[in-house]
Amino acid sequence: MSKDTIDLQEIRTIRGMRDLIGKDAEAFCYIIDSLKKIVSNYGYSQIETPIIEFTSLFARSLGEETDVVGKEMFSFFDRSEQSISLRPEGTASAVRALITNKLTQNLPQKWFYYGPMFRYDRPQKGRYRQFYQFGIEYLGSKSPLSDVESITAAYDVIQALNLKNTTLYLNSIGDTESRASYKEELIRYFSQYKNDLSADSQRRLLVNPLRILDSKDPKDQEIIQNSPSILHFLTPESSRFFERVQEGLTRLNIPYRMDRTLVRGLDYYDHTTFEIKTSISENQPSMAFVGGGRYNGLVQQMGGPSIPAVGWAFGIDRLILAFQHKIPPLHLISVLFVKEDEEYDALLLAHQIRSILNTPVLFPSDGNLIKRLKYSDKMNVTCALIMGEEEIKSECVKCKFLITIKDFFKGTEKVIKRSEITNFLYNLFKE
Ligand code: AMP
Repeated sequence: MSKDTIDLQEIRTIRGMRDLIGKDAEAFCYIIDSLKKIVSNYGYSQIETPIIEFTSLFARSLGEETDVVGKEMFSFFDRSEQSISLRPEGTASAVRALITNKLTQNLPQKWFYYGPMFRYDRPQKGRYRQFYQFGIEYLGSKSPLSDVESITAAYDVIQALNLKNTTLYLNSIGDTESRASYKEELIRYFSQYKNDLSADSQRRLLVNPLRILDSKDPKDQEIIQNSPSILHFLTPESSRFFERVQEGLTRLNIPYRMDRTLVRGLDYYDHTTFEIKTSISENQPSMAFVGGGRYNGLVQQMGGPSIPAVGWAFGIDRLILAFQHKIPPLHLISVLFVKEDEEYDALLLAHQIRSILNTPVLFPSDGNLIKRLKYSDKMNVTCALIMGEEEIKSECVKCKFLITIKDFFKGTEKVIKRSEITNFLYNLFKE
């Protein structure tokens, strides 16, 4: 191959990474805007943290034994030989930000964030190596009503995006004391089946038996089915806490189903855990849109004071896949000149309409009028405003309708005085 030829192999995307274009990009923006609006109504404000952090931040907070840390991080050494990682999730960075920005005395903090996350997972539909999350973190509240509030906000998102066939799954993994006695029981139970468990689960049996409940291995799944339930091991305080969460959801009419194996994939959770799942199609397993819960020990574990917290993260890629909502049509206008002589008048008109009506205006300037009309048609322009010699002389604009709107049929034309054009368009587009 000559030096000048580009090797197409080299310019493909990396496995598990994709471009969001057209409808997907439109849905992405719509979903992010809806999420922002919903969580703002609950008093959350935006934070931005770096996409890379020290590897130790994630290893310490998510847990060495988790799949995310053990197998899925994009980690590498930078030029100063420091191990850094692309963030696999947002909570660790938010907690780091609370500590490093000295905000631990300034509580509560209610934060939302969104952006790309990276996990070296096996790519499939709805599972990517670069995916997008939108998350909230409510730092500094220990009340079970904060759990209710945070789950309610997630439920609002599902309603606002009109997602069908979803179920909210709920569990409690109790406090440290509840988990200590539960872990003992789990070790006793799983040890009976030690040789039948997957290699990962065998290793986890002694290190972190709770992680076995997370296993997707079909053989493990069978054994997990009959495992003891954490709910029988909750201390009276943990039990009371969980009852109050359930009571809150019931009072707000939010339906949920208990799932005693819902321990979530990361080590920092305690008390409430939850997920909202759906089946994307009949032949596909259900997948989670959002997952979250309480993490009272994490801030302290990372070197800060003891600060209770609760949060969740939505997977935006999965919301895009399930999103059926019709985004309200946006009226597009195009301004077209006939010959070069009219180009500046047309340019000025496009500029004026854009600024007076605050509406999108296309100004295609390549090719001839036919080509520019075809382009306007392809872009679903509602009406093309045409300026030729005749229109300029008579201080008019020819309005050609490319879509039927109100009394104007597709293909018809109307000549309008230049001084009245913005008024005409305003009345045309108003509901
Ligand atoms: P987690 O941070 O694992 O609790 O995940 C929260 C949400 O992020 C999940 O419910 C998914 O919707 C989404 N998510 C997690 N991993 C991926 C991935 N590899 N690709 C797409 N979405 C993901």
